[in-house]
Amino acid sequence: MRPYSLLIFLPFAAGVHIPNVENPDHKPRTSWGYTAADGPATWPTNFATCGGSSQSPIDLSTTTRVASNLAEFTLTNYDTPMAGTLENNGHGIKFSFSSGTAPTVTGGRLGKDVYEFAQFHWHWGSVSTQGSEHTIDGKEYPAEIHFVHFNKKYGDISTAVSKSDGLAVLGFFYEVSSLDNGNLDPFIQQVDSLVTKRRSLDEGRGFNVTEEYEGEDRSFKRGKSTKSKKSSSRASTSVAVSGTIHLSSLFPVGGLPGNYYYYSGSLTTPTCDESVQWTVFDKMVTISENQLITLRKLTSGGVTLNDNYRPPQPLNGRTVNYRVAPATNAELGATMLGTLIVGTVAGALAVMAMQGAFGAVLSANARKFTDLIFPANFNPELLNENAVLRRYSNKYRQNHY
Ligand SMILES: [Zn+2]
Repeated sequence: MRPYSLLIFLPFAAGVHIPNVENPDHKPRTSWGYTAADGPATWPTNFATCGGSSQSPIDLSTTTRVASNLAEFTLTNYDTPMAGTLENNGHGIKFSFSSGTAPTVTGGRLGKDVYEFAQFHWHWGSVSTQGSEHTIDGKEYPAEIHFVHFNKKYGDISTAVSKSDGLAVLGFFYEVSSLDNGNLDPFIQQVDSLVTKRRSLDEGRGFNVTEEYEGEDRSFKRGKSTKSKKSSSRASTSVAVSGTIHLSSLFPVGGLPGNYYYYSGSLTTPTCDESVQWTVFDKMVTISENQLITLRKLTSGGVTLNDNYRPPQPLNGRTVNYRVAPATNAELGATMLGTLIVGTVAGALAVMAMQGAFGAVLSANARKFTDLIFPANFNPELLNENAVLRRYSNKYRQNHY
């Protein structure tokens, strides 16, 4: 350990209270995190928009959601292999697209505007009963992934972030599975290498790794004694991700689900800009405890990144919609067949009732009607494929043995 580190950390280790240690000059604090000192409850003090009326995340209620029928989303290049960078930015893990043709999303709840993919990142918990930002009927999930896009009509994400329709985020929840989700492996392996790099950086031996100084975060810990930005404990680490991954591999089994919640909200981290068209899917992506454990090893400045989620914010009268996918042809077919069967049985019962009521007078005509429904030569056994096969095999046996 370097000498200054000992000087700086000793008071913390001994539990000595140092007044205003985070803010010695009484200037507005611009760092943020998820601890009691800099967590979500403190954000509105330092970032006014975080106290706004259209904040995210929110609780998604199955009872108050408003059903809607929209066209499908249209995704492009979500299946195209791409290269990018996975980065521990001190608040979580972020994948940024670096080369090739950018994926886009349009249609569905986004209408005609085209939104270009910029990055995805995860939020997760220290245990599997928490970690997601959105909740469904109050239930929390172990992790949540956000695919962040910007509206192409604004040109770039930094311009779009201040517009009410500037950003579109697609969010998915994870649920714990006893099996690893193989589609996550390429990312989890890279996360593991970030853990190793981060550890070596935290121990002061790893300055050969990719390292960027990230603002003034936590510089109070060392900055006063070293005057060196290089020694920031919040330096980020990043690794290149090969050009073989594709974003749709992070979707639930079966691809982009047709049902989803949508509402207007904000970024869930400072500066909490109210510019996000949110879409949250309730079909889960699976992840194993072992894979979650890899995420939970991540640290920044020796501090865990676990529980990097903001709790649900007040709805303040906003409408939360729920898009219901139209039934597929197969489902429609099954429904129609069901209706036909129910109608036929009901019709037959009605005729039988009529027969009972009017007796012999109507019986002749009624019988004709039932004959139409169940022809005299109708053999219900024919409906049963196994029975038909059995019958023919019996005939075969009768003829040949
Ligand atoms: Zn997020």
